[in-house]
Amino acid sequence: MITTDVENYPGFPEGVMGPELMELWKKQATRFGTEIISKDVTRVNLNATPKEVYVGDECFKAQTVIIATGATAKLLGLEKEKQLMGRGVSACATCDGSFFKNEKLVIVGGGDTALEEAQFLTRFASEVHLVHRRDTLRASKIMQDRALKNPKIKFIWNNEVVDVLGENSVTGVKLKNTQTGEITDFACGGLFVAIGHQPNTKIFADQLKLHNDYIITEKGSTKTDIKGVFACGDVQDHYYRQAVTAAGSGCMAAIDAERYLETLGV
Ligand code: NDP
Repeated sequence: MITTDVENYPGFPEGVMGPELMELWKKQATRFGTEIISKDVTRVNLNATPKEVYVGDECFKAQTVIIATGATAKLLGLEKEKQLMGRGVSACATCDGSFFKNEKLVIVGGGDTALEEAQFLTRFASEVHLVHRRDTLRASKIMQDRALKNPKIKFIWNNEVVDVLGENSVTGVKLKNTQTGEITDFACGGLFVAIGHQPNTKIFADQLKLHNDYIITEKGSTKTDIKGVFACGDVQDHYYRQAVTAAGSGCMAAIDAERYLETLGV
């Protein structure tokens, strides 16, 4: 819902807007009888039979539950970052990189995601400046070597982005040196935030097995450690994180749930 142009979902050779794609999915799902209830789930009891999903005091009961709550990209928490999201600020290089042809870009983060995305952005950008708050990277050695060898990637060590410049689009960022406190303005056409993702699993944490907050699913399936509970998409996948892979695992979950119901004779 919050992404603008989606250029990498099959079937849309001209691209499609995120909300439009969602609307089409909604239409298609309701054609097959899906009832959509737009409310926030507040708690669950996945060990009950049938399983219970609560919205406040309202309780929905079901033989099987598919969890597809996704993961939220972590952001820096700056006011202007929110304001210019989709207008030069992005948390997804694979989604938005191609809109920044020949631009000078800034990417924040020092992990594998930041380095992988920096590498990807060099296909489009004239230069990519990676801003990291320390002087050593968290990323794996192989990713570091690759990035350090790429002449289009430049490193700005010991710095944090403390503000985004520009009114209708990004024109630069304000940097603060974490050692000296010195503030500098840095001109750029886009800011990519790559400081990790937070899977939306808080309400399941005391019931399902998690690893780094991601739901653990059985290899090659969407089964969780509770029978009849399935998880799909970014809530259980920190690696691919694409709309098309999430949709594919959603299909797996539907098939897994249907087969589970068959075993119950439902
Ligand atoms: P990580 O948690 O590994 O790294 C996050 C980075 O962002 C760190 O360098 C951290 O700095 C920095 N950071 C966090 N918060 C802030 C902040 N508020 N301001 C500035 N910088 C901040 O997340 P990743 O998404 O990079 O990786 C997640 C997992 O996915 C890892 O296990 C990774 O190995 C894996 N992965 C593997 C890939 C591959 O193998 N190809 C590709 C992508 C991900 P600091 O270091 O100082 O804490």
